[in-house]
Amino acid sequence: MLKPRRCIEQIKPYHSPISDPQPDLRLDLNENTTGCSPRVLAKMRSLSGKKMALYPPREPGEKLVAEFMGLKPEQVMLTNGADEGIDLLCRAYVETGDEVLFSTPGFPMYEIFGRSAGGEIVKVPAGPEYSFPTAQVLAKISPRTRVIIICNPNNPTGIAVSRSEILQILQAAPEAAVLVDEAYFEFYGESMVDQIGHVPNLFITRTFSKAYGLAGVRIGVLCGPADQMSAIRRMVSPFNLNTFAMECLQEALADKEFVSAYVSQVKSTRSWVSSQLEALGFECWPSRTNFVLCRIGENKKSFLADLRARGIGLRDRPDCEGCVRITIGTQAEMERVIREIQQVIGRRPAERVTR
Ligand code: PMP
Repeated sequence: MLKPRRCIEQIKPYHSPISDPQPDLRLDLNENTTGCSPRVLAKMRSLSGKKMALYPPREPGEKLVAEFMGLKPEQVMLTNGADEGIDLLCRAYVETGDEVLFSTPGFPMYEIFGRSAGGEIVKVPAGPEYSFPTAQVLAKISPRTRVIIICNPNNPTGIAVSRSEILQILQAAPEAAVLVDEAYFEFYGESMVDQIGHVPNLFITRTFSKAYGLAGVRIGVLCGPADQMSAIRRMVSPFNLNTFAMECLQEALADKEFVSAYVSQVKSTRSWVSSQLEALGFECWPSRTNFVLCRIGENKKSFLADLRARGIGLRDRPDCEGCVRITIGTQAEMERVIREIQQVIGRRPAERVTR
């Protein structure tokens, strides 16, 4: 009988919230609820049928992104979302039985891509208050560690790790590809990008799915040392990005005002949301992203179901005890969320458990 590889059989399927019936306010995938830049949309609308018939070259977009990030085009590869970059990196460096190391709670695709590459997964639990467990990660580095992924700031906690700790890990694991996942970079503002090419095992991934509002278009970036990137380039489809993605890049990068206005709105709404939730008795972690992790307590399931019945989808995080992850939408959307939460818990005030 036909059987997939054993490592594939071990993968637990990723359950996307978008397979469920859709709430009218979706705050469960850290998408930009305001949409993409109008300049990007105008560009897409202007595309001709002729353009659609052609395979899109990737290189012009890589030049643009490299310039934007202050890198050389040889250090940059565009990917079909950051997801593809993580997958390619695992497949490029992991032999069967090698170790893929990351901290938990974390982004679930690390495990899926690590396992698909045949890797053994080494999970290092976060420290107190979900701090990055640098000492424990260092202690877990072994001769078989081939990929280390550091999500900075981390999904789902929103917590960041310092540059010096990342450098320590890079130095301690010269035989491993160390990927810093900067999916939420625009909200955090700090990056390791200046070290690309200087540190021989450093890779970074970024995405246009969050701050740029282009999750549906699928544009990610993987960067690393030129010699390593040339190996990874051998594995990738020459046409992994579609024409919409390639054609809208220039406008997306040029419309800096769109990104900065969205980021500053998210930051101010995020602090308002956290203070409101805390005033209601729910603990929140200080986030550097476009979402907030919030501890609801043991009534989390009914809390989520009640909000969903009112048209609001939040993300359950079973890996963070009693917690949900809430994407930050517009101020008006979040005022609605807080109103609905007040009503939901108002009906069951005695059940308002925090820890
Ligand atoms: N890394 C992290 C930490 C993420 O949260 C996400 C998306 N949720 C991704 C990577 C993947 O992003 P993309 O849409 O670019 O594939």
